[in-house]
Amino acid sequence: MKKIAIAIHGGAGTIAPHLLTPALEKAYLEGLNNALDAGYAVLKNIGSATEAVAKAVMSLEDHPLFNAGKGAVFNHIGGHEMDAAIMQGVDLKAGAACGVPSIKNPILLAKAIMEHSEHVMMASDGALTFAKQHGIAIEDDAYFYTEQRYNQWQAIKDSEKFQLDHTETNGEKKFGTVGAVALDQFGNLAAATSTGGMTNKKYGRIGDSPVIGAGTYANNATCAVSCTGHGELFLRSVVAYDISCLMAYKNLTLKEACDLVVYDKLVKIGGEGGLVALDHFGNIEMPFNSEGMYRAKINLNGERDVKIYK
Ligand code: ASP
Repeated sequence: MKKIAIAIHGGAGTIAPHLLTPALEKAYLEGLNNALDAGYAVLKNIGSATEAVAKAVMSLEDHPLFNAGKGAVFNHIGGHEMDAAIMQGVDLKAGAACGVPSIKNPILLAKAIMEHSEHVMMASDGALTFAKQHGIAIEDDAYFYTEQRYNQWQAIKDSEKFQLDHTETNGEKKFGTVGAVALDQFGNLAAATSTGGMTNKKYGRIGDSPVIGAGTYANNATCAVSCTGHGELFLRSVVAYDISCLMAYKNLTLKEACDLVVYDKLVKIGGEGGLVALDHFGNIEMPFNSEGMYRAKINLNGERDVKIYK
């Protein structure tokens, strides 16, 4: 069997052992394991990296604890505006949807945009129309209601505050965004990211997740990257593409490129967060400069590693 590998994340932030009850920790680990299995099964069955990252991200979108799909945070008017992107390294094809309500699995919409349109990115109502035309599942508001997210929004909805899912408020820590990178038997890489963005966000705010090159990027010549963190800083740092460029133009290894971007460049401008990355040799990196990051991988030797804290 040729070499396959996968890595996923469920958000980075102020995540420390004393902030999660054992039951909650178990639920997060279970969610990560299930998503890892969903993606890895595709790779084992000679499926594509694109299919694998989509399946892994779907699994996390369907899980109420992660800030994407079902667990997406509330925006300023009590709705949900979700962002997602997918990219495949073999031909640099990409698809992204931003600011979309009602889509059960935004990553499937991003994938449909990549596969069935001449465009890369679609937004809000137009993206919803495209979704309906392509049989993408739609859910009503009740589907996206989770008590935890509702309470987070209630706490700040009358203020001017908008809140990253992984910032600390009143001692409470919140985390968000999901993503995956994979290498398939054909030597192809892919990356996918999906998020509900920030609680109480207004003005159609979009973060890094759906922006190709910022939160999501894949290129067979270098690597696949999916980010999580303070979107504005990740956008300004063009994080995912920067890692690919450092490998392509400066011959850095995946680890050297990730370390430079996450522990140096991002830190210098106050960009908290992390990412999962995978190169065409199958090396995996999962760096973060926050306290923790929900993350999991199965490497080239089939070894599994699922972690939350540093
Ligand atoms: N990067 C995401 C955004 O800014 C949020 C996150 O990763 O938690 O929308």
